[in-house]
Formats: sequence, C-alpha cells, structure tokens
Amino acid sequence: MATDPANLPPKKTDWKSRYADLVNEYDHLKSDHTREGSDWKKAISRLSQVIQEFSLVDDATLQPLTRALSGDGNAESIATAVNDFCFQLPEFDNGLTSSETSNTGHSATDYDPAQFEQVLTNFCSHLNLDPGSQQQILGTDPEDCSPAHQLNRLYEVVQRHSGQLAQQPFDPAISALLIEMVQSLPKFPELDAQLEAATSRAQTCDNLNNLLPALEQFAALADTVHQKIEQERQQSAEFLNSTWQRLTELIGFLDSTKNDREQQSKASNHLQQGIQTRIAALVTEADATQSLPALRAILGDSVEQIRNQVNSYVEEEVPRLRRAEEQCQQLGRQVAELKQETDTLRKSLEKKQQEASRDPLTGLANRRAFNRLLAQEQERWQRYGRPLSLIFLDIDWFKTINDQFGHKAGDAALISIARILRKSLRENDLLARFGGEEFVALLPDSEPGAAFEVAEKLRSAVMETNFRFQEQAVHITISCGVSTFADGDTAEDVLHRADTALYQAKDKGRNQSEVG
Ligand code: GH3
Ligand code: MG
Ligand code: MG
Repeated sequence: MATDPANLPPKKTDWKSRYADLVNEYDHLKSDHTREGSDWKKAISRLSQVIQEFSLVDDATLQPLTRALSGDGNAESIATAVNDFCFQLPEFDNGLTSSETSNTGHSATDYDPAQFEQVLTNFCSHLNLDPGSQQQILGTDPEDCSPAHQLNRLYEVVQRHSGQLAQQPFDPAISALLIEMVQSLPKFPELDAQLEAATSRAQTCDNLNNLLPALEQFAALADTVHQKIEQERQQSAEFLNSTWQRLTELIGFLDSTKNDREQQSKASNHLQQGIQTRIAALVTEADATQSLPALRAILGDSVEQIRNQVNSYVEEEVPRLRRAEEQCQQLGRQVAELKQETDTLRKSLEKKQQEASRDPLTGLANRRAFNRLLAQEQERWQRYGRPLSLIFLDIDWFKTINDQFGHKAGDAALISIARILRKSLRENDLLARFGGEEFVALLPDSEPGAAFEVAEKLRSAVMETNFRFQEQAVHITISCGVSTFADGDTAEDVLHRADTALYQAKDKGRNQSEVG
C-alpha cells in the first residue's frame, strides 16, 4: 500500500540535523568555555602574584585562592575563593591609608622607619638637644611621624637653638649621622640626583653655619619623598580598586553562565523525557491498533508532537546559546585586558625594583642592595662556617680631583674606577657603591690573608691605570680597609672594623691596605 506523503512528518531530516547541529555547537562552546576558564584561572593567579608584590597580602589570605586555582577546581569553587579574596581587598585598601610606608611599591619594602628614628635620635644626642626637644622632633601622633615631618621639626629646633648650639664645639660625628639619615630615607630612582646632592652637602658639614642649609635641603628632599610615597600609595589603591571591580564583574558573569547552563541542562532533560514518553506511548498504542490507517494516523500524530517539542526546545535554546557565546566573548576580552594590565604592572614593578637596588652613576649595587646581600651572606656564613671577608675602598684625595677638574670629571673617574674594581674581582664577589667615593667589596669564601691580597690587587689595578684629563695625566689611588667575620660578630662589627682599618690606611699616608 502506498503511503500518503501528507501524513508523514514533513521535515524529519530537518529537525534531526538541527538537533545534531545544536549538539555540535554546544560541544564547541563547551570547549571554548573550558579554554576561557583556564585563561581566567591564569589571569587570577598572575593577579594574586602581583598583589603579593605589593606586600599587602599574607600567605594565609592567599592560600585558599591559590589552592582553588592550582587543582582542577571547578568554576564554582574558584568563584567562592575569588569572592572571599575580593571580600578582603577593601581591607587592604584601608590598610593603604593607615600606614604611611607599608604599601608604596618597591620603596616600602626596604625602608625601615625604626632605623630612621634610631639615627635621628643619635643625631639629636650628638647635637646635645634636650630630651623635650628630641621628643618634639620625633613627634607622638602617628600622622605626624613621617621623616618629612620629623626633619622639618629638626630644622626648626636647630634654628631656634642656633645661639646655644654655636657655643658648643661641633661634633664631627654629626656629618656622618646626617649622611646616614639621608641614606636611610625611602629610595626612589628618580630622586637619586637629589639624594646624591644632599649626601655631598652633608659630607661638607663641619659647623653650624653649613649644617642649617644642609638640614633645610634634606628636609625638602624628605618632603618630595613623602609626596612620592603618597602618589604611589594612591596608585596602589586605585589599582586595587579597579581590580576588585573587575573581579566582581567576573564573578557576576560566572554566576550568570552557571544559571544558563543549569537552565540548558534542565531543558535538554525535559526534551529527552518528553521524547521517551512519546515513544513509549507510541509503542503501546501501535500494539493495540489493528488497522494500518489508524497506525499511520497515530504515527503521524506522534512524530508531529515530537517535532513540535524539538522545535520549541531549539527555539528556546538558540538564543540561550547566542547569549552564552556573547558572554564567552566578553569574558575573553575581560581576561585579555586583565592579563595585559597585570603584565604591565608586573614589568613596571620589576623595573622599579631593579632601579631601586642599583647605583645610577656606576651601575653597581647601591648601599641598600649591599646591606640586603650582606645579611644573606652573613646568614650563609653562620650556617656553613665558610670564611667571609669585606673590603672598604675609598678614593684618595677625591675632593681635590673634583676641585681641579670639575664634578663631571670626578663622575667619570668614579665610573672608570667602578669598572676597574669590578673587573679585578671574581664573579662571586659583590661590589657595591657604598656612597660618595666609597666602595665596598664582599668576598665569600675568603680568609683574611686572601682578602688582603684582593685588596692589594684592587689598589694596584687603580694605581696602575693611566687616567687622563685633557692630555694631562692624573694619578688616582685608593685606600682599603679589610676585615673578616669572626665568631660572635654582627655585620656592624665587621663594617666598623673595616672602616677603622681604612682610616688607619689613610693616616699612614693613603694608597695602601690595612686589616682591621
Ligand atoms: P680622603 O683621601 O681622605 O678620602 O680625601 P677625599 O677628598 O677623598 O675625601 P673627602 O671625604 O674629603 O671628600 C670626598 C669627596 O667626594 C667630596 C665629594 O664632593 C666627592 N664626591 C662624593 N660623591 C661624588 C660623586 O658622585 N661625584 C663626584 N664627582 N664627587 C663626589
Ligand atoms: Mg670618603
Ligand atoms: Mg676619599
């Protein structure tokens, strides 16, 4: 018997292929989604690293987030961890305003306010300032205790007491303490020139008349440093704020895609169940039917119902898939932006960190970097008992070189000497510019005898170099003070012995090395 085409489901292949397309599209989207998800994970992990660099977040706070990101944590667990983490960000934000020095990028990590106050207190004692004035300079209100405020008050007190201070002999330690105070301010590479100028000025302080302008210059520098810290703090706060907002957006997005996926899976289950019920009914009805036309009618009817069900599923599903696709694209864009931002920030932090530990004139490690490495080497010396020595090197009569040939020629000589010294040392030895025309070399695995030989080698290398200024030969020499870590020594003890040895070498006529 011929089948009437009008009674057959008209677009059987059409809904089948549409369903297959939909499944394919869904698979595709799922794999896109997984990829976006892993990009998203990476971005958050980079972000948490960057936030760590600000020294704002302790390990305990970061741990849940790191754990959720490192395993194959699902979106939900990551979202919860991010949510908890974000919840704490405003606290860090507040932290930014409560402490002046703790959140200012590179400069904050090394600056030690206690050390600054210690030197300031020493300075006041050497000036014989009464305890009341000292207290007034140090200040009591935390808002008022920044180096900038303290130095401005120091300047005012010294000015006020200048009559009385002029009566007493000028303590030569004052100049060294002033240099120490200048050096212990938080460092900003762009203020290096001002810092050098303030240090040079401090070096020439030998009476009250030149102490006052030096203090004034120093206080102005501290004001600038204070403003820089404020600026960095504000930038950090802005960055954290925008990060917080972005993460909140991402979490919102994740929630909405989760809802969409739940709805989709409900709709697809509903469809499956509908089809199964229809087929089961069809089988029962077909069993009970005797005539072919009735069977054909039942079949036609059932297929039509299934077709309607699939069509309505597709009609609901297509816009949902579109929406999911758009959301995925939006997420991709957000992830890319976030990645770029964190990368830029990371690079600028790395650059700042590098600049902050290097002396801009000679390219050597600066005093701060040296102190850090000295502490590390000292720890290694304590742990493994390997000998550790240190050499202080100071250019002889350098002031005369500046006076005769100018400051620029002096700078050029410093650069050459730094290069000569570096070339004459082993790769493992650390050479730093300690300040002005003073260098320091740290020699791991070196006994006193060997260290003395190194000092002599450095001294000879400088002495044998032919310096020239406009066709005129210039002789430059250095003096060295050597010391070696011995049982019970602190780094200060060793530095002090090397410094004393250096002064002995100077006293004995310069261009020589002494062991302390
Ligand atoms: P001594 O042999 O006793 O060490 O004499 P000196 O002249 O080298 O020592 P003094 O401490 O009297 O002077 C050091 C000079 O070094 C004074 C300062 O202007 C100069 N100086 C410090 N830093 C720099 C710098 O970066 N560039 C230049 N050109 N000169 C500097
Ligand atoms: Mg010197
Ligand atoms: Mg010198």
